[in-house]
Amino acid sequence: MEKIDIKSMNINELEDLLKELGEPKFRAKQIFDWLHAKQVDSFEEMTNLSKGLREKLSETASINGVEMVRKLVSQIDGTRKYLFALSDGAIIESVLMKYEHGNTVCISTQVGCRMGCKFCASTLDGVERGLTAGEMLSQIYAIQKDCGERVHGTVLMGSGEPLDNYDNVVKFLRLINDPKGQNMGQRHITLSTCGLVEKIYDLAEEDLQITLAVSLHAPNDGIRTQTMPIAKVYSMDRLLQACRDYADKTKRRITFEYALIHGVNDGDEHAWELVKKLRDMLCHINLIPVNDVKERNYVKSTAERVKRFASILNENGVETTVRRKLGSDIDAACGQLRRSHMKNEQKTEE
Ligand code: SAH
Repeated sequence: MEKIDIKSMNINELEDLLKELGEPKFRAKQIFDWLHAKQVDSFEEMTNLSKGLREKLSETASINGVEMVRKLVSQIDGTRKYLFALSDGAIIESVLMKYEHGNTVCISTQVGCRMGCKFCASTLDGVERGLTAGEMLSQIYAIQKDCGERVHGTVLMGSGEPLDNYDNVVKFLRLINDPKGQNMGQRHITLSTCGLVEKIYDLAEEDLQITLAVSLHAPNDGIRTQTMPIAKVYSMDRLLQACRDYADKTKRRITFEYALIHGVNDGDEHAWELVKKLRDMLCHINLIPVNDVKERNYVKSTAERVKRFASILNENGVETTVRRKLGSDIDAACGQLRRSHMKNEQKTEE
């Protein structure tokens, strides 16, 4: 029988489990505290539980964490990139970024991805599976332990499409925010999506204070369909309407991510098109010079182009920033480390 994934359970679910095991309800809070405040990795460490209960728990449940396979530390800015193995051996990557306002971790939500964006290394081999809420938490807990500092914020921008693993991701968002656990402020959490419209509407109903980031990467459907297959399912009009409705409902400002690709989406005319479409919206644009992916022919826009693009937007009512690049010496972008790891493994096997 498969063991219960105890790290993905909230206090109510733990209470039900303890009832089934014939144990008093208050034990649930103690177990939650061990798992999510003290962040231990084994039942043996839960020393205020009786030996009998600890044994019962290890028979019925398991604490699925992540195991560090590799770590790279940037000599430039202290960014740390991790490769973690999950309990089934699948490999994911996470990144710790050190900002002045605190430590932020970028976590993966799926093993691989099935969205097929042409510029993204995470999607080249498709998706294997979605991560459990506990596996998402574990990335943060493990990094916190490794760096010995508190992690204040999280971005769901590692491998995977968060809204394609909706239930587990929402569960994660509630658990990481739980005052009895890590107690991470929702306003310090950003969920990034390629734009699954129905799920954006669902998310708006969850009453969360997180920031929604939408990967736009193009000013119109013609260009967007060339780089993002999902654009064939949801037109940009529908996507932008969903974003407007999301902002209306949640009163939260949306972030649009826009990776500038030389000669593809970085012309003045493209910036003007964006101005027309976004001027009246509660939003913010994050420009990112694309990270070249060798498998594709995309190269980043020049620094002058980025500057000019940003100034057209900024001068015409669309607030825009250019994302500072961290960890450029350690393959820190978008599935690149995992991909080079998998390739090396393949080579060794051959
Ligand atoms: N699936 C989600 C989140 C994961 S990707 C999404 O699509 O938003 C996180 C961000 O990195 C997305 O904006 C994605 O489009 C971007 N990204 C992927 N590959 C990139 C590359 N080579 N250069 C710059 N940004 C990239």
